[in-house]
Amino acid sequence: MVSRVIPVDSFDLVIFGGTGDLARRKILPGLFRRYCAGQVPPEAKIIGAARSEMSVEEFREMVRASIEEFGSTPHEPGQLSSFLERVHYEAVDATGDDGWEALKSHLRDDTIRAFYFSVGPSLFGAIAERLRDKGLADAESRIVVEKPFGHDLASAKSLNATLAQHFDETQIYRIDHYLGKETVQNLMAVRFGNMLFEPLWNSQYVDHIQITVAETVGVGGRGSYYDKSGAMRDMVQNHLMQLLCLIAMEPPAKFDPDAVRDEKLKVIRALDPVEPHHMVRGQYAAGGDEEGYRVHVENEKSRTESFVAMRVNISNWRWAGTPFYLRTGKRLRARTSEIAVVFKDAPHSIFGADAGRHRNVLSIRLQPNEGMTLDVTIKEPGPGGMRLVDVPLDMTFADALGPDTEAVPDAYERLIMDVIRGNQTLFMRGDEVEAAWAWTDPIIEGWEARGDVPKPYDPGGPGPEDSLMLLHRDGRRWREIKA
Ligand code: NAP
Repeated sequence: MVSRVIPVDSFDLVIFGGTGDLARRKILPGLFRRYCAGQVPPEAKIIGAARSEMSVEEFREMVRASIEEFGSTPHEPGQLSSFLERVHYEAVDATGDDGWEALKSHLRDDTIRAFYFSVGPSLFGAIAERLRDKGLADAESRIVVEKPFGHDLASAKSLNATLAQHFDETQIYRIDHYLGKETVQNLMAVRFGNMLFEPLWNSQYVDHIQITVAETVGVGGRGSYYDKSGAMRDMVQNHLMQLLCLIAMEPPAKFDPDAVRDEKLKVIRALDPVEPHHMVRGQYAAGGDEEGYRVHVENEKSRTESFVAMRVNISNWRWAGTPFYLRTGKRLRARTSEIAVVFKDAPHSIFGADAGRHRNVLSIRLQPNEGMTLDVTIKEPGPGGMRLVDVPLDMTFADALGPDTEAVPDAYERLIMDVIRGNQTLFMRGDEVEAAWAWTDPIIEGWEARGDVPKPYDPGGPGPEDSLMLLHRDGRRWREIKA
């Protein structure tokens, strides 16, 4: 059931931050999986770059250990060793002048060059500048930029301007790994590949939409970064916004990068400012064996939110009158990401009041168990009259794909292959990121101006009580957070 693997053209990929957490957990194991799947050509080169002095053998050993720890895949004997032969390393300080010539000597002419900026955002400008000045990048080269892309509109604009001095927009790949998830792309396939849903996909038939991204973990070792960011900047401005766009956008004329991104941009620009009473912020309290948020971030007066819920309205013809409820948080009951499209009640029940209230819900699960469920109302089997019951039509992708599920690339793998292919559809364009910040900034500024203090909430639950009230007031309720 998994589609054929089409090898990409040969490439030289430089990973700045090749020794870092993201490279070790995602990028390098992902490249190995694509290599084993036959998508990475045997002559491709992967070059790690970071400040640490390290021999190529030491770096290869680190890559081997990372692959074994974070995502080995069934492979032929010798495949890991042959992959490691493709791997090289150069010590380069992004802010200095040494090491660039040696790095350049790895790069071949007439081969796609991609540079992955897997380093802190403060280094993006320095690397972009040196890639150009020192002649490593040409007009065909691609750069891959990790999140966070800015901290607010001003910093995002400044970052876009810096990158634009050295690279054309068509060369810049801003990663939001949510867009690389199989189910997220399926969202577009479901919406625009079926006649069934699109006629109903509007405020006439959809009561409301819920987008939930829940985590069970706390801030972990990222406390100091997270406390300056919070759920709004870390999750809503990027991941939830992207999901909202894909759910709400108009059908693009074709599946091409700018056509898709133009439609997403229109959604962001149609978002209303969010009223203060349509937002709830929370901070997880201590619970179980774990301390609360403020201890985790070592800031006993922190006003940063580890949870946010909000009601968002889109002012356009399709969606006026249909609220979108967004919610994300840490230390919640389960790790789950779900989009639920809740359809309106049938206009008239021929079964009488006793039949109760039944609604069709299309729920799209991003994790775990990627898949979709459509709740449909049927007659409860057996005697006893006409009683109705909602049953799920379940399409769990793992079931549908069977033993081939292993072959489905994870988000990072897919996105890196898209970079090599030169396909920007699943990457954020500069104006999109800026529009998202332009909507986010006033929300955060409002919290700061009002001195808003997040509500404490118990770990392992659904978040603060006020978040439940946000929907109760509208006569609705959140779907249960469950794995
Ligand atoms: P990390 O573990 O701190 O790694 C940073 C890497 O950058 C290391 O390889 C470090 O190696 C290198 N580095 C630091 N300063 C450098 C310099 N001046 N010149 C060259 N290399 C330098 O960070 P990370 O978690 O991998 O994150 C990397 C980026 O991805 C960040 O922008 C982060 O926000 C983003 N991101 C990470 C994750 C994740 O799961 N980790 C998820 C989403 C986004 P040396 O110290 O040897 O130079």
